[in-house]
Order: sequence, then structure tokens, then C-alpha cells
Amino acid sequence: MQSMTFPSYRGTMEYFCLGCGKRYPANELYYTCPECGGVFLLDNLDFDTLKQTPGHEWRAIFDQRAATKNTALRGIFRFYELMAPVLEQEDIVYLGEGNTPTIESSPALRAETGLHTAYKNDGQNPSASFKDRGMACAFSYLRSLIRANDWDQILTVCASTGDTSAAAALYASYAGDAIKSVVILPQGKVTAAQLSQPLGSGATVLEVPGVFDDCMKVVEHLADNYRVALLNSKNAWRILGQESYAYEVAQWFDWDMAGKCIFVPIGNAGNITAIMAGFLKLHDLGIIDTVPRIFGVQSHHADPVYRYYAADSGQRKFEPVAVTPSVAQAAMIGNPVSFPRVRHFAERFEAVGGKHSFQVIQVTEQMIMDAMIQANRNGHIACTQGGESLAGAKRAKELGLVDENELCILDSTAHHLKFVDFQTMYFEDSFPAEFEVSPDRSLANAPELVIDPEEKERLSAAEYTTATAERVVAKLGLQTRSR
Ligand SMILES: *Cc1c(COP(=O)(O)O)cnc(C)c1O
Ligand SMILES: [Zn+2]
Repeated sequence: MQSMTFPSYRGTMEYFCLGCGKRYPANELYYTCPECGGVFLLDNLDFDTLKQTPGHEWRAIFDQRAATKNTALRGIFRFYELMAPVLEQEDIVYLGEGNTPTIESSPALRAETGLHTAYKNDGQNPSASFKDRGMACAFSYLRSLIRANDWDQILTVCASTGDTSAAAALYASYAGDAIKSVVILPQGKVTAAQLSQPLGSGATVLEVPGVFDDCMKVVEHLADNYRVALLNSKNAWRILGQESYAYEVAQWFDWDMAGKCIFVPIGNAGNITAIMAGFLKLHDLGIIDTVPRIFGVQSHHADPVYRYYAADSGQRKFEPVAVTPSVAQAAMIGNPVSFPRVRHFAERFEAVGGKHSFQVIQVTEQMIMDAMIQANRNGHIACTQGGESLAGAKRAKELGLVDENELCILDSTAHHLKFVDFQTMYFEDSFPAEFEVSPDRSLANAPELVIDPEEKERLSAAEYTTATAERVVAKLGLQTRSR
């Protein structure tokens, strides 16, 4: 079967600067435009030749690849021709990323919210966030550069306190010898959990006194002056890999996007950019007939993109905001680096999907926490940003923007367990005041000690088991089994 072997199609890719419009060949490593410092998109100059294959044939090819055991085509590169068709099979790194499950909400949650929702669990990626989609693409590209240039070493660098460094360190540790990973973190500003992933992957973890922005400046200085690969979200190869989210959603719903709404939390705005770009490519190739509606979601504590789109189209002016603490910590960004990309794709998206096919919803911290707790009490595994997606859908319903006949697909961008500290604060009612979260005390959940440890000392082993079991019986009000 032709589709099971690695595709023979190759494109011609160029970096395209959204600031000054200059183009650069993709066989060189660029992070931002050397001319103006603007952010890049990657453009396939031979994209139109893909149109010689009709949409239904592409659908059949991608559906067949869903069964392949060729690992190069098993993850995000199932959609090879649409993403980075300059890579060779031997370059592709696959660690099980992509193809994350879409889980329809239970009837109970549907009744509570009055909404038809489904979570796409991007926390079920290898490092437990969607960042793996982008890293799989960026590291595959790096391997192609190493091969083509015969480099004996390349240093990958990122400034991060969370999911980006976890993903970068994981892929670097697999990709091996020539690739060394360095993560630069603000000293004392990261939790043990945030540190554990890059440390466990064997990355060099460097601490800088200061905040995230200080680390970012150091990293950009390195990128300007040394041969290092910068993996923060300005990296255009990451955006390409993240388009796979859109392809997977479309494929899961049999390429029918009518009546579907996608809710995505916005931080640096790379993810929402990639999702819009992905759906536009599918539409351009006739693989889908309609684009879904896309809703970005932002907390009132970090909402520059919401503010921009809340203004009338003639009055819009982008202004960074000063952020205040947010439970959606991975999206707590006042000056998103990918904002020019959002503007670029939002315009194209509306041209295809009509006015209001792209919107940004603002939610409160309270709504985010309540929604996360609600989702997880109904069988989901949403992180706080995943809670933000559900909060966004509920808010959109209040505003009359969606109804129960539509399906709201909610992005849980990371696994619940990465952000579990916020659940603890909710249950223990210990949020610092700046968060502006008052927990619903009826939802508090805590372990209960059944029996005193000193009784264990006093009783024989058999007595202890019986005594403990009796306390459990009393607590649960169990009835004896009739014989
Ligand atoms: C990075 C991240 C975000 C924000 O995504 P952007 O692409 O920066 O908008 C949201 N949630 C999680 C869990 C993340 O790691
Ligand atoms: Zn430029």
C-alpha cells in the first residue's frame, strides 16, 4: 500500500517573516528574522501541487496511515505532507506524541452544563502536555540539519519554568549524542515538580537569579551570537508540529467540522495559531468543507488577546498587559510572542469561516477553577488550562454564542497531575488573595484517617485488621451481607 511506505512527496519550505515579509530558505536554522526581529511562519512553496490529489483521496490516505506501524508516520507525521515535507524518514523522532484521545463528556456533565462537550486530552502526550507535538517536529528538523551539515554537536536551549522545558529535555535525551539540552530557569521560581522533568531527562539545568524574562534575554543573547537552537515558542518548527492537533480533531470526527466549536486557552498564542493554520490547510485542500468555530480563552488576569479582539475592528490596538497570578499558570502571559501570528491567521480564518468564526472569550479565575473541578468530578483529567477551556464554553453559552446542538471540543493542554497544586489549594481553601478564588466548600475532598496509629501498636495483627475494618464499616454505614 503506497500510503504505508514513507511518502515520496517533498515540498520547498521557506521562512516567511510576519514583520517585514522577507523570506529565507528553510535549510538554515533561524529563530527570528535577522532583518527585523519579527516572528516567522514556515511556508511550503509547493503546497498547491498537493491540490492535484482530491480531498477524498487525502482523507483515505490519512485514514489508512492511522493503522500503520511505521513509527515515522504513527504520530504527528501521519499528516507529513501538510506539515514539514522536507524531512526524511530517518530524521523523524517519535516518542508516542499525538493521537491523543477525544473523550465525550458524560450525560451527567452534559446535564449540568447544558452543553455538548468533549475533551481532547493533550495531557496524554509523552511529557504530559501538547508541547510534545511541536518538539517532535523541531527535533526532527534539527536531526535533518545535523545530518545535512555533518554537525557533531548542537545545543538546544530554552527558558521555561514548565512544559516547554519538560518537552525539550525529553526529546533531546532521546535524540541523542549530537544534541545537548540546556534549560535556563529563574532561580527559586520553579516548583519541585516543574524541575523534576528536565532533571530526570538529564538536561543541563541552569538557574539565573531573577524572573522568566531575565532568562529569556540570556537565551536570546545566546541565539544571536552562538550556534544554538532556541526552542521557545517563536520557533516556527514548533508551530508546524502543533498543527497536528487540528488534523487529528478533523479526522476523529470523520472530516466533518460542521457544528463544531474548539476551545483553546491562549498564553503565548502559539497553540491557537497552529490550530487555525491546520484547519485552513485542510480546507484549502478540500479535505474538510467547513472550518469549525475557534474560541480562544483567556483569564481576566492575563488577557491581552481578549482585549484586542473585544474592541471594534477599526479601533484595535495591541497592548501588553501586566499579569496577576493565574491558576492557568502556563497561559499567564501579558505579551504573547505569537500575537502577530494570531492576527495573520484570524483574518484568513474569518475569510473562510465567516465573521465570528474566530473569537476570544474572557473568564475569571473562579470560573476556571470551578470548571476544572467540575470536569474532573465527571471523569475527565483536565489541568487548570483545560478547566479554562470548559469555563470558556460555559461563558460562550451565557453570551449566547454556542448552544447545545453544537459540539464544544475542549483542549486540555496538559495532564491534570502537572497542575495538581491548584486543586489542593481549592480543597484546602488556601488560595492567596491575588488569585481571587473562593472554593465551593461542598466540593472539598480530603483523606480521612480511619484509625489511630497508636492502636496499631496496642493491638495484635488480627485485632488491628478487625478494628480497622469496623471503623470503615461505621464510616460507610455498611449493612452485613445476608447469607
Ligand atoms: C504552553 C501552554 C499553554 C499556552 O499555550 P500557548 O501556545 O503559549 O498559547 C497552555 N497550556 C499549557 C498546559 C501549556 O503548557
Ligand atoms: Zn523581518
